[in-house]
Amino acid sequence: MLLLEERYKPVAELLLTSGTCPRCVLRFCCIGFPAPYRLPYQELAAELWKSLRSDGDISPPCKKVRLEALDGCKSEISGDVKDADVSEEPQTCNVCLGILQQHCSTEFVKKIFHKVQSAGYEFQDFVFSVSLPAQLLVREHSTWLQAQQEMRKQDRLLEKADVIQLKEAYKWIIHPMISEELGVQAVSKSFFEVGVVFCHQETDEDCHFLATVCKDCFKPTKNKQSIFTRMAVVKALDKIKDSDFCLHFPWPPSSPKTTCQVVDIQCNHASVFVAGRYNKYSRTLPQTPWVIDGERKMESSVEELITEQLMAVFKVDSFNFSSSGREDVDVRTLGRGRPFTIELLNPHRVQFTEQDMKDLQQKINNSDKIKVRDLQIVSRDAVAHMKEGEEEKTKCYSALIWTEKSIRKEDLEFLNDMKELKIIQKTPLRVLHRRPLAARCRIIHTMKAEYVDEHHFRLYLKTQAGTYIKEFAHGDFGRTVPNIGSMMKTTADILELDVESVDVDWPPALED
Ligand SMILES: [Zn+2]
Repeated sequence: MLLLEERYKPVAELLLTSGTCPRCVLRFCCIGFPAPYRLPYQELAAELWKSLRSDGDISPPCKKVRLEALDGCKSEISGDVKDADVSEEPQTCNVCLGILQQHCSTEFVKKIFHKVQSAGYEFQDFVFSVSLPAQLLVREHSTWLQAQQEMRKQDRLLEKADVIQLKEAYKWIIHPMISEELGVQAVSKSFFEVGVVFCHQETDEDCHFLATVCKDCFKPTKNKQSIFTRMAVVKALDKIKDSDFCLHFPWPPSSPKTTCQVVDIQCNHASVFVAGRYNKYSRTLPQTPWVIDGERKMESSVEELITEQLMAVFKVDSFNFSSSGREDVDVRTLGRGRPFTIELLNPHRVQFTEQDMKDLQQKINNSDKIKVRDLQIVSRDAVAHMKEGEEEKTKCYSALIWTEKSIRKEDLEFLNDMKELKIIQKTPLRVLHRRPLAARCRIIHTMKAEYVDEHHFRLYLKTQAGTYIKEFAHGDFGRTVPNIGSMMKTTADILELDVESVDVDWPPALED
């Protein structure tokens, strides 16, 4: 039943008698489809031996022979050992270090299942990822060189790319098993990832000779504990001469006493993005937490008031908050509010109806300091959408202005007639500690002044996004020209500022 091509039989025989597991044998015999890998381990072993035996008198090795093979003595296997002692626990494979043996078992799959279940994620399907210890690459290389040599005896080639990769074979076996437990499909792309990280301390030093032979492939890198990363090992194996390799790492690779250990089974869900618009009604509320030298200056922030609720409901680890511009702590944001987007990282709950989102919005709106509207789940590219063309967008403000000299209604009329006023603003003194010094041109599209009393008036402005309104009012010691003070030939200051509208038509408005 097993289709082992004639030409691969010497390779199969060689590996089977040298401590390599039947599934790895399939890989090096280039069996490129899942069914044989999924056969029960013992059945596959018996099957393989049968196919080798069918045209010769090769028998599966008894334990003694296997041990001799380990000692490096190639033994002629006599025909009188009939049935393989296949019922005993197989020894750990010297190529996959047990990955295609113990770590394909139903017990192991159950372990993954329990881990995923207890993590409490919502998901529709999953992608399964495996992190393998780097020394597997060395053992793989060694086995490939040997198999290639065997094929050359028949004047045939065995390219490394023809060998079925360990990861691929592993997924062929384990995908259906995990899928069945979890009740959803394993796919190649999913928002939900289940990852298994393996290590094998016993053979950690397998790689070390590479660092002496291919010094330049192994440079210390930041954030990495070991220089023997998979990438560095791949590079070194690509460079090293076959003869050098065989000298340092003779075939067959040692048979390990232990199998790979599972360091971690990780679950992760891709970020979910939530957008909306917020109003801020407080003049003592910063947009983001205001902390100087580790000390909080204000007890809350817009960001916190919104995300506290989101984090609890989506059950997330952390978030990134971004918005279309920002206002100072003492500035209110009125009108339809300011667009914002929040990236929720590693959310455990992700399935929400429109009604759920409305309820969530209602919860946030229990605060008297802020209000949120149009709260909705959006796609990842929505953040870029919100930021795109930000500079060209307009914003409307209303400001309460004080003048030193007393004014009459008529003194304000010239402001109403000004259209598309160009101003030059050097980076304001108050933000110079966090922004580079630059002079920027900004446009005040329109202004409308409303007389209050002889020292006060209200000014409505429509400006290009990014205009510093406070500095336009008081002039920032001549760093913004022209300014309200200079145009009115007096000292002016701004007492109150409100954002009336942020003219970004995103996110889409929702019905209330
Ligand atoms: Zn194996």
